[in-house]
Amino acid sequence: MKVQEIVQIIERVAPRSYAFYPDDNNGLLVGDFTSEISKVLIALDLTEDVLEEAISLGCEMIITHHPFIFKGLKNVRMDNVHGRLLTKAIRAEINIYACHTNLDVSKIGVNEALRKKLELDNGLNIKILQPTIDEKYYKLAIYVPQGDVEKVLDSITKAGAGHVGNYSHCTFQTKGTGTFTPLDGANPYIGNVSEMQYVDEVKLESIVPEKIINRVVSAMKKAHPYEEVAYDVLPLVNESESIGLGQILVLERSMTSEGLAKHIIDRLGCEAVKVFGTAENIKKIAICGGSGSSVIHLAKYNGCQALITGDVDYHKGQMAVDLGLTVIDAGHYYTEVPVLEELKRYLDGEIKGTETFVTNINTCPYKIVSKQL
Ligand SMILES: [Zn+2]
Repeated sequence: MKVQEIVQIIERVAPRSYAFYPDDNNGLLVGDFTSEISKVLIALDLTEDVLEEAISLGCEMIITHHPFIFKGLKNVRMDNVHGRLLTKAIRAEINIYACHTNLDVSKIGVNEALRKKLELDNGLNIKILQPTIDEKYYKLAIYVPQGDVEKVLDSITKAGAGHVGNYSHCTFQTKGTGTFTPLDGANPYIGNVSEMQYVDEVKLESIVPEKIINRVVSAMKKAHPYEEVAYDVLPLVNESESIGLGQILVLERSMTSEGLAKHIIDRLGCEAVKVFGTAENIKKIAICGGSGSSVIHLAKYNGCQALITGDVDYHKGQMAVDLGLTVIDAGHYYTEVPVLEELKRYLDGEIKGTETFVTNINTCPYKIVSKQL
């Protein structure tokens, strides 16, 4: 598969328009959209060890969550880590792609992966903690000759149409008769100039998110056999799907703050967690992978008894205690790393002929050293 095809598959569920930092730097950072990719390495961060791992595995592409190039580069030199890694990656013809805050809020993103890894809820009654986008939808109706329905359906679903919840390829088809008369200058797929045609056609209807409607229509036109394609794009007023940061979950059984902390250590494989506050009867929680200090108030005002996140400093932790909210800081790395397996699972189901690997390198920049050691 080409880089471009892999990027399209990722951005079908994590479009760059989902990014909620205005200066986020998602997309292909190094490389060539036309490169053929046989192996992909997935990591949170690009480090020297991760790059070496990619080279030794023979990967031509690295997908990271944190963008390796974030702010403007002033130089590319071997005496600094950015220059050295970029030079090495370019020499090894490795493509580097980043999906950061667009992956945070995606359906296969950081918070969904964290929720699944924690195994605290039954997957029902999940709410978005901080909605960042209200997705609008269109209905796309295409009139297709009967023999070409499969080809057109395949093209629009590959471009992202027809996704409803956990279902893909959602369409409705009605058989009917299309009519047309090719005029002078036409090059008709069926029939001849000046002869009225009656053709067995199918009206193929599907749902398309607003942000990808242009992509889907152009993919449809490429696959459709007619010179002039008949199609309708209709705005829908269906309830929009909320997309955003963090999730609110209801636990299957109530837990104490200490019990919840031990469960998190066990499930996420971290050495320790920081626990701010104590609680005896935690039933409703918020989760926010990565840095989640900013959602402490939101978690409290949504009636949560606890928040699981990372990067909580002294004063923010103190504020949570004052609010009566238990905050468990399991670390930025450990609350985000489950997304790597989730992304691999998604890609393995969508791409053919390209192998994917999750890095074996722990890129957490610190270690906990405790008194007992
Ligand atoms: Zn992060």
